[in-house]
Amino acid sequence: MVTASQHISLIDSHCHLDFNEFDDDREQVIQDCLNLGVKQIIVPGVSASTWQRTLSVCRQSSCLHPALGLHPYFTEQHTNDHISELDTQLSQLKPELIAVGEIGLDFYDKTTPDSERHKQIEIFEAQLALAKKYDMPIIVHNRKAHDLCISLLQQYSLRGGIIHAFNGSIQQANKYSEMGYLLGFGGLSTHPHSSKLQGLLQQLTPSQIALETDAPDMKPYGVDTPFNSPKHLPLIAESIANTMQTSLPLQSLEVANPIFPTHSLICSTVD
Ligand SMILES: [Zn+2]
Repeated sequence: MVTASQHISLIDSHCHLDFNEFDDDREQVIQDCLNLGVKQIIVPGVSASTWQRTLSVCRQSSCLHPALGLHPYFTEQHTNDHISELDTQLSQLKPELIAVGEIGLDFYDKTTPDSERHKQIEIFEAQLALAKKYDMPIIVHNRKAHDLCISLLQQYSLRGGIIHAFNGSIQQANKYSEMGYLLGFGGLSTHPHSSKLQGLLQQLTPSQIALETDAPDMKPYGVDTPFNSPKHLPLIAESIANTMQTSLPLQSLEVANPIFPTHSLICSTVD
């Protein structure tokens, strides 16, 4: 059991702590996280209209690290002006921002019109170009478009980042790893029916993965709260470690250091 919180030091590599679900008790959640050994939290931005909220939430605690990006889920809202605005934000705030994200492609819904898919690709590419310009890592959301994503990432040849909520094949996983990307795994992999994700984890090494909650989404198995919280990261870490038949995969988080060089995301291993 993961109970000796002082002995672990985890990074939640993907948590939407700026979302409304946390408005009532955000400070308490942060304090509880620190007590439980969740020492650093990456908070990705999703749309230009909410970037200020992402930034102001992250300025409340030194353990919160903001990223800014245009999420493919909100493609309808995004405009070329938002790309220019992101360029400005990155140039002004780069040391504060840990990555460009959350960016990517979401082709899950088969009814999404081609025009919207093209717009998703355009916006993703524009943000890859910005990540290249500022030499920053990226946080990628990808559903049902891994081969396209891999070929785009090969073209842009960035410093790496995290493929959040990875759910592709082992071949795709290994391609991402070769290019310097960590694969994000969270609560979904803890559910008994998630045999595909568990099979993937068994073929990966801890140094290929990053832990994440994706809170308030993706509740881990057995959690009875209305929505997910970064407080559940130790539970997820324990479940993933069991699946991988390793001790807590904390060494994977140390790999985050070269990927996020502007921040000292130092993680200790289990005592
Ligand atoms: Zn997200």
